[in-house]
This record gives sequence, structure tokens and C-alpha cells, in this order.
Amino acid sequence: MSEATERVAVACPSCSPAEPVVHEVLKPGGQTTVRCTECSHTHKTKIEEPETVECDVIVSQDGESFATATDVPAGESLAEGEEFVLDTPEALLTVRITSLEVGDDQRPESATAEDIDTIWTRVVGNVGVDVTLNPQDGRDETRSIELRVPGDYEFTVGEREDLADETFTVKGIHLRADATGYGFDRLDHEEDMAFAKDIDRLYADDESSSAWSVW
Ligand SMILES: [Zn+2]
Repeated sequence: MSEATERVAVACPSCSPAEPVVHEVLKPGGQTTVRCTECSHTHKTKIEEPETVECDVIVSQDGESFATATDVPAGESLAEGEEFVLDTPEALLTVRITSLEVGDDQRPESATAEDIDTIWTRVVGNVGVDVTLNPQDGRDETRSIELRVPGDYEFTVGEREDLADETFTVKGIHLRADATGYGFDRLDHEEDMAFAKDIDRLYADDESSSAWSVW
């Protein structure tokens, strides 16, 4: 019901043969039937579809990966570190480009759609973050857990977190190799912040166990 009528700008042979004017698309196809919104004249025209290039995409998530493909506008330049929404049969995934493969197994930092063989990506919309939890009282052992959080979740050194039945205070953040814009690959000053999708591992003081030792 609410499907919007597609509109295109093409020349109208009746009222505007030289300048494009807005037409409604009545019947899409190779020869598209359109109606001029200025004079209501209906005619057939050929509409140029934007050209796209199909690129193979490898998506990795939590140590597993799968292959799919995506259409990239011809001439568009892609670069490592860029993020885009990938339409897969299962879901829309926000992914980050980790590597671009062009001919001869080369891996340039950026490339034009036509030159790209494979776009290597990882999912950043929702990520697993490894956390090393150091016990507070020396009785317990160091634990390693994985937390699942939105990619844009912010972790800050010195801040206390309450996630998935775990309570801890962030002491240090080790960033992933593809994280950009931080200046360092380790953050350990109060108020240093990183997004979950950029984090390789969090180091934290375990407060879960000390909650018990209050007794
Ligand atoms: Zn017209």
C-alpha cells in the first residue's frame, strides 16, 4: 500500500525534450514506461541503471567465517578500516574491511571496486570481547571470559562494569591491529576509552568474587 512511486528525471518528448523533468515510473523494465509529472504525457524510455561490480566477501565472526558477495558501485573506492552494512541471506551485518585482495594476491590499503577480487571483513555490529579478570583477594585464580556486546559499546579505564553477571573494573585495554584513531595499541590511563569492536582484550579487576568475600 505504502510503496512509494519511483521517480526519475528524464526528458519529456511532449513538454521538455531538452531538459530532464520528473516522471513517475509506471512500468519498470528495459524499456521503462514513465509519465511526465509536468504534462502527464506517457512514454517509454531507457533508464540507465547505475553500474555495479560484484565482489566476493569473506565475513569473519567469532573465529568462524563464511563467503558471500556484494554489489559495489562501479568506480567506488574501498579502503581498509571502512565499515559498511552487508546484506546477507540471514541478516544485515555491520562489517569492517580488514583487507582488500586484488589480482596477484596483492593487499593494498585501498582499491577501486573493479580491481577488487575479495573483500575481507569482520562483523563489528555485535562483538565478543575477551576479558582477563584478576582476582582482588589473591584466593581466586585469574579468569578469562568472553562478553558479547554491541560493537559501539564503550569501555573506559577505571570504570566499573556490570555485564552478564560479572562485575569488574577496567584496568587496561589492548586494541586490535585494525583499530584506528587511538594513537596507542594499549590504553591504561584513567578515562581512556575504546569501542568494543576495536578491543582485542580487556584487563580488569574482578569484583564478582570480592562481593562474596564481603562476608
Ligand atoms: Zn511532459
